[in-house]
Amino acid sequence: MAADAPRSPRPPRPPRPLRSARLDAAGDPFDEAGSAADIGGDRYLEFENLVRRQLELLGEEPTRDGLAKTPSRVAKSLTWLTRGYQMDVADVVGGAVFDEEHHSMVMVRDIELYSMCEHHMLPFFGKAHIAYIPNGKIVGLSKLPRIVDIFSRRLQVQERLTEQVAAAIEEVLKPLGVGVVIEAYHLCMMMRGVEKQNSKTITSALRGAFRDDAKTRDEFLRLAHGPSNPLR
Ligand SMILES: [Zn+2]
Repeated sequence: MAADAPRSPRPPRPPRPLRSARLDAAGDPFDEAGSAADIGGDRYLEFENLVRRQLELLGEEPTRDGLAKTPSRVAKSLTWLTRGYQMDVADVVGGAVFDEEHHSMVMVRDIELYSMCEHHMLPFFGKAHIAYIPNGKIVGLSKLPRIVDIFSRRLQVQERLTEQVAAAIEEVLKPLGVGVVIEAYHLCMMMRGVEKQNSKTITSALRGAFRDDAKTRDEFLRLAHGPSNPLR
């Protein structure tokens, strides 16, 4: 091609995602065995180098015994902890949507949740409570925690996480309403000062009947905020 031929501007290619599927197959992401490079190739090496540099900038000696494998461990664990980027709702829910003429509230509460805040890359963790009112379709109950996982295993803010879970359920089931409450402790707050040790952040997303009908909303919020372990 001639040097002066017009060129269409080529958009930058998005970075190839780290191969978390292979990480899943590799089992425990915090496992010491093997180098991260064994699992994912060049991008892991790059990741490891960045962590090594980060250690240096913190004033550490990345070559000392205790830290020698840290870059590899961090590359593996961070990739695993953000594997939600490679998951999508359709895949996770699969064929687990069933026709069912049930029109009362379905609720799964106390779903364990671990995520990382996008402002500090520190964990936040807690519980999600999810309810919906079917409109001809229900979903396998075990899929609700998995939907939470898709969105919590990323860098997040709790507010967006709550909305994304509600939006995903709305999209999959087209229910008469959906409600999501998340209560979580944020290490970025807890680790900064003693006064903040016990502060819990609560967010909710209410759609359809949960937003428009006071009785439904009250019932949901009462169940979501009620005592856990009712069977004890
Ligand atoms: Zn934070």
